[in-house]
Amino acid sequence: MNIPLIDLKKEYEMYGKNIEKAVIEVMQSGSYILGNKVMQFENEIANYLGVQFAVGVANGTDALLLALEALDIGEGDEVITSPFTFFATAEVIAKVGAKPVFVDIEPNTYNIDVNKIEKAITENTKAIIVVHLFGMAAEMDEIMKIASKYKLKVIEDACQAIGTEYKGKRVGGIGDIGCFSFFPTKNLGAFGDGGLVVTNNPDIFEKICFLRNHGSKERYVHTSIGMNSRLDEIQAAILIEKLKYLDMFIFKRMTVANKYTQELNHLKRKPPQYTDRSHTYHQYCIEVDERDQLINFLKQKGIATGIYYPIPLHLQKALQYLQYQQGDFPVSEKVAKHILALPINPTITVTEQEYIIKAMKEFAGVSS
Ligand SMILES: *Cc1c(COP(=O)(O)O)cnc(C)c1O
Repeated sequence: MNIPLIDLKKEYEMYGKNIEKAVIEVMQSGSYILGNKVMQFENEIANYLGVQFAVGVANGTDALLLALEALDIGEGDEVITSPFTFFATAEVIAKVGAKPVFVDIEPNTYNIDVNKIEKAITENTKAIIVVHLFGMAAEMDEIMKIASKYKLKVIEDACQAIGTEYKGKRVGGIGDIGCFSFFPTKNLGAFGDGGLVVTNNPDIFEKICFLRNHGSKERYVHTSIGMNSRLDEIQAAILIEKLKYLDMFIFKRMTVANKYTQELNHLKRKPPQYTDRSHTYHQYCIEVDERDQLINFLKQKGIATGIYYPIPLHLQKALQYLQYQQGDFPVSEKVAKHILALPINPTITVTEQEYIIKAMKEFAGVSS
């Protein structure tokens, strides 16, 4: 057996034919930047997410960057976020000249601990970037309450959580701005880079449209300093086709996750399940004590695993200037030492998953 974390080549066999047709249409159309396909995708995804406005951009990192810029966040401002996420979440805060301020995570959901946010707020705090890590919705009601009390903006980093629901709403459309990534391995992946900004605020929508296109609406008329960060027409055509599979693929991920959760009884830490919100399992992460041994054991059996994330952001060299210390965020630090992602994807077979479960049980010395 050889079971990778994700198999994009195998996935391609499911929808490749339709995508090839859509891509050729774009190539033949002669329209490659901000054409009909981008507009169609923006309409369809806005509809899917239950938001008023969606703007296709070059990648998820730019989506976050543009969100901060649209909210006029920069020099002298502080933005609260989680130290346990992909680097880009905090990178963009530093990039606009603002200061990333970290708040530790909850031990079960790995999302920002809402009970610790208020202590981190100062007169310079302008916004919170909430991450729905691994596809698990963060405590949005509590976060929105804090934001309204202190007049903070809320940006949702929903890059790993497209389609995740929180109390009947899809994430990304709950805060002021939602950001998504279509990096190939994300739950909705393009064949290259892609990203999306969503909002229900017409002023923010207008600003993002300007900013992604050199501060310009009318060609060669520039009303603000923007950048070049547009979703490609070809990627939009691909995403239109792949969006048709998204709910089915999420359902498949949930089915695989439920089986892991049921079968791996011996594990002390698995993804929690709540009735008021969904988990779309971009990753299925567990915590184990003898992580290196387990990784090697599974590797020998042809089973791939991944560590998301081995180093919390407050301990990253690039952010040393913030002067955080080891021990500042004990939950994030502990989780980083024990967390392990098991294979989960839309193409994994029952036989493959049973093989993984058997290997996990064998390692733990429990009978299958
Ligand atoms: C993938 C990801 C990003 C960045 O998206 P890119 O499209 O790779 O730029 C940002 N935040 C989180 C949580 C991500 O998982």
